[in-house]
Amino acid sequence: MSNLDVRPQEATCGGRQDVSAEPVHELNAGRTVALGESTNVRRLLPNLGRRMIGAWCFVDHYGPDDIADEPGMQVPPHPHMGLQTVSWLHDGHVFHRDSVGSQQLIRPRELGLMTSGAAIAHSEESPRDHDAILHGAQLWVALPERDRHVSPRFEHHPNVPVVTARGLTATVILGEFDGALSPGTTYSPLVGVDIALRSGTDTSLPLERDFEYAVLSMSGIVEVDGEDIGPGSLLYLGSGRKEVRVRANTDGGLMLLGGEPFGEKIIMWWNFIGRTHDEIAEARAQWNADERFGTVHGYDGERLLAPSLPAGPLIPRGAAGRKR
Ligand code: MN
Repeated sequence: MSNLDVRPQEATCGGRQDVSAEPVHELNAGRTVALGESTNVRRLLPNLGRRMIGAWCFVDHYGPDDIADEPGMQVPPHPHMGLQTVSWLHDGHVFHRDSVGSQQLIRPRELGLMTSGAAIAHSEESPRDHDAILHGAQLWVALPERDRHVSPRFEHHPNVPVVTARGLTATVILGEFDGALSPGTTYSPLVGVDIALRSGTDTSLPLERDFEYAVLSMSGIVEVDGEDIGPGSLLYLGSGRKEVRVRANTDGGLMLLGGEPFGEKIIMWWNFIGRTHDEIAEARAQWNADERFGTVHGYDGERLLAPSLPAGPLIPRGAAGRKR
């Protein structure tokens, strides 16, 4: 998915000094962002108070939307740099095309993982014949300095590991959870888990003390760390916890996102992550000149051009953003 803002704000993030070593309880409802003509998403990250959770640096939640009589998701070819994208669906399908030649239908609870490295372009669209309901999340993971120029690649993992307990089904998207390891390639210590809970389940999720965590609510009403959270909100939990209690008041779905605090300062602007203003400006100019990022074949439509850069220079700052 693309950041389709016509006037994207730069987000400067990373660096450990803004990450709490203690547990935190910070609820964010996100803000609604129009993605193309037919899809609204809730942007949970980055937000005013919080820029990153480990290396996770971008979280959009979309749907459930009834797209039976609509085209659904139609995100034209656009570039990425310095990050991985994670496509995760609860309902519906997304067809992925990219400039390294991948063409892949992604189904619910299958991992679509694209590593941009230095340069890739992709498109994402609902297939012409599609299910009525589209519901999912799009996430980005920042690549650390040593790996951010790797060759671009796309991984499709239709069978990621599933851990079950009474009333709980945990699907390991990235990293390791309860002894189960996702096959998805990671470049820093992090975890992403899809948690499905049956109504009435009261349990604790095991956590790593030196990771920071957040929980994204996907569906239902689930009490997390003592607070009911509804779909499309993100509860930041900080670090220093060995578990978090979850109680499902209805059947519910969560995504647990965590990782070692990201030690480097980065700049996010539009669909790029870099370290300097000039690097971002160069990537923008090259994409708009149809250089460097390759060609996405088969998408029925025009490429998405990058908007103008903001007037001032892009400067890397801390992970927690402006203080509220
Ligand atoms: Mn994208």
